[in-house]
Amino acid sequence: MRILVTGGAGYIGATAVAILLEKGFEVTVLDDCSTGHAELVAPGAKFVKGSLLEKADVVTALEGCEAVMHFGAKSLVGESVLKPEIYWNTNVNGTRILLEAMRELSIKKIVFSSTAATYGEPKRTPITEEDETKPTNPYGSSKLAVDYMLTSESIAYGLAAISLRYFNVAGAYKSKSGWLTENHNPETHLIPNVLGATTENPLKVFGTDWQTADGTCIRDYVHVTDLIEAHISAIEKAIPGKHSIINLGSGGGYSVKEVIAAAAKAVGREIPFMATDRRPGDPAVLIADISKAEKVLNWKPTRNLEVMVQDAFESQKA
Ligand code: UDP
Repeated sequence: MRILVTGGAGYIGATAVAILLEKGFEVTVLDDCSTGHAELVAPGAKFVKGSLLEKADVVTALEGCEAVMHFGAKSLVGESVLKPEIYWNTNVNGTRILLEAMRELSIKKIVFSSTAATYGEPKRTPITEEDETKPTNPYGSSKLAVDYMLTSESIAYGLAAISLRYFNVAGAYKSKSGWLTENHNPETHLIPNVLGATTENPLKVFGTDWQTADGTCIRDYVHVTDLIEAHISAIEKAIPGKHSIINLGSGGGYSVKEVIAAAAKAVGREIPFMATDRRPGDPAVLIADISKAEKVLNWKPTRNLEVMVQDAFESQKA
């Protein structure tokens, strides 16, 4: 089976491409390389450099495909607040064009990268898929809009669709051609920033006065390899005419200070850090209820925080 991976030159998409190829799938990548890196795409994938916003590119990329893993999107929360139109265009309009092309070519299966940002500030944790969705930024709103789009397409046209709501994706995958490192510019994610901290440029800890045991925010980290294994299961389990929404996390949380301690152990040195103001839009605690993923996808993450930090470190060294 050939799968189209949109955004296949990004950190998560490129990991999907490598694992799919290693499992014997055929893969086409569609990426405009605006934030991705072509050199991350595993040899063996067909690469179409093009945009979700150009229907001709999408149609070319879909040739011979039976299913789509849709990672291609803009994903910076801060940027989405300052330039929302980019998010409505790429994330929502781009997906609309993708679905239109899939409909015309009778390609009826999609697994979509949704996000915990669709929930906004949670009223309770762990968060289940039934909980209220009230995004606090245009990034989350645009992903939620696509979730609604997929529900309507599944009802109207029999699409088999699964939205996977990621919590905090971390770690790295070592493919046959080497480590697939997380490499964003600017880097906003905690674990790469922790590993990059120096005495001259210490990690900024965004708030130490949260209502948590050690005063720092708690997040639910999931290894990118576990995450992709859930996607492959979702491709196998998606049902025509049904759109399912499923959380992907570990079901447990770590504070920023706990992540710093795990990283210090992994790299064998102190991590220099300083407390700063809270980052606007950050909730105190985000933890996924993953019982639906366990039930529907028959999936359970197997790589803990130590492995995530160790793999992120090895991939950065390489
Ligand atoms: N964080 C931090 N310093 C950083 C980056 C992140 O203290 O340089 C904190 C952030 O406030 C949040 C957690 O680490 O509580 C995870 O942030 P990240 O940006 O990795 O993911 P998010 O939770 O925003 O999706």
